[in-house]
Amino acid sequence: MKNRTAIRPTLFIGIAAALLLIAALAVTGRFFLSPLLADLPDPGDGSTAAQAEEDPFDAVFANAQASAIAEAALRRHTSPAVLEDVEGVTVELLPVNEYSRPGEPLEDVNAIVIHYTGNPGTTAQQNRDYFASLADTGRESVSSHFVIGTDGEIIQCIPLNEKSYCSNHRNRDTISIECCHPDETGKFTDETLESLVTLTRYLADSYHLGEEDVIRHYDVTGKLCPLYFVEHEDEWEALKAEIFAS
Ligand SMILES: [Zn+2]
Repeated sequence: MKNRTAIRPTLFIGIAAALLLIAALAVTGRFFLSPLLADLPDPGDGSTAAQAEEDPFDAVFANAQASAIAEAALRRHTSPAVLEDVEGVTVELLPVNEYSRPGEPLEDVNAIVIHYTGNPGTTAQQNRDYFASLADTGRESVSSHFVIGTDGEIIQCIPLNEKSYCSNHRNRDTISIECCHPDETGKFTDETLESLVTLTRYLADSYHLGEEDVIRHYDVTGKLCPLYFVEHEDEWEALKAEIFAS
């Protein structure tokens, strides 16, 4: 009995001393580490840099958050901006100009918008060259990220990290694909459809988009574009199903 009562005060003092030691280490550790932590790289955000002067521990936390956000963005955008290494894609970027390639960053991609050119019998090259000519003529503001021709050829006109002028208020968060067609019905050739399925599947996979994120210009503004797939809703649904068929 005597031994146990003697141990209690000793134990109490021991615990108190340990707590004091931990508190002292926390304070001095913070003091000594501060200059080291203040040298950590600034993530590029002015507000975070200001915090670094006030409290380096907060800055470290903010750095971790910033890099987590950047990593999440990288995971979301697995596609390169220019598809020069993707089979079947020819890259012929437009010159940066205010009428067809504004050079503004496309910061998020939430949908892919499908169009038809509305110019029966024209080629992908002709449509791409028309977009490019707007830099000189300034006749109108129009372009798209890709044009697919009636032989299935694909031309990339604008990098995927820049906006195109194709889908009205959705230019800010969509990738646009224009498709050529032989006649007024706006029906695509089998070759165009095959390339459209392949390209859209690649993009949807890269940007983690679902079937509901592949839309028509019609779904943005009510414009009859792509005409054939506005008039044939069942074929539009079938096309989307094919894109997402595993
Ligand atoms: Zn359109």
